[in-house]
Amino acid sequence: MKQYGFDRLSRDLLILSVACGAIAACTFFTWAGPILSAVAAVLALAVLLRAVSDKKERRQDELLGYERVTEAVKGFFSRLFGHRNGSATREAGYKYFKCPACGQQMRAPKGRGRIRVTCSGCGNVFERNV
Ligand SMILES: [Zn+2]
Repeated sequence: MKQYGFDRLSRDLLILSVACGAIAACTFFTWAGPILSAVAAVLALAVLLRAVSDKKERRQDELLGYERVTEAVKGFFSRLFGHRNGSATREAGYKYFKCPACGQQMRAPKGRGRIRVTCSGCGNVFERNV
């Protein structure tokens, strides 16, 4: 029998399962404890069943679907945080420099090559590699 084994989805499910298990252990005597341990058990079982499955196409479909979802979620959050000034995701994609005329701190999106920048402080126009 050809087994499917481990992929990114299995790994993430396992991490989620361990996380749920850990939280379940902390909240064992509350209402969340039994629910989280059940979720942890189901996730662990799913990882196990996927790993020993011989239906490779189905598992790859699941992985593909999962990757589509994670990409969509990532896209959603980057759009969400992209509108906020000073967020980590936004700052990571910017190059910072100073206006040569007045020293005003400026930034531009990285990876665009040579761009023309107009200083917001003094209106000076200059070119910059980003
Ligand atoms: Zn300036």
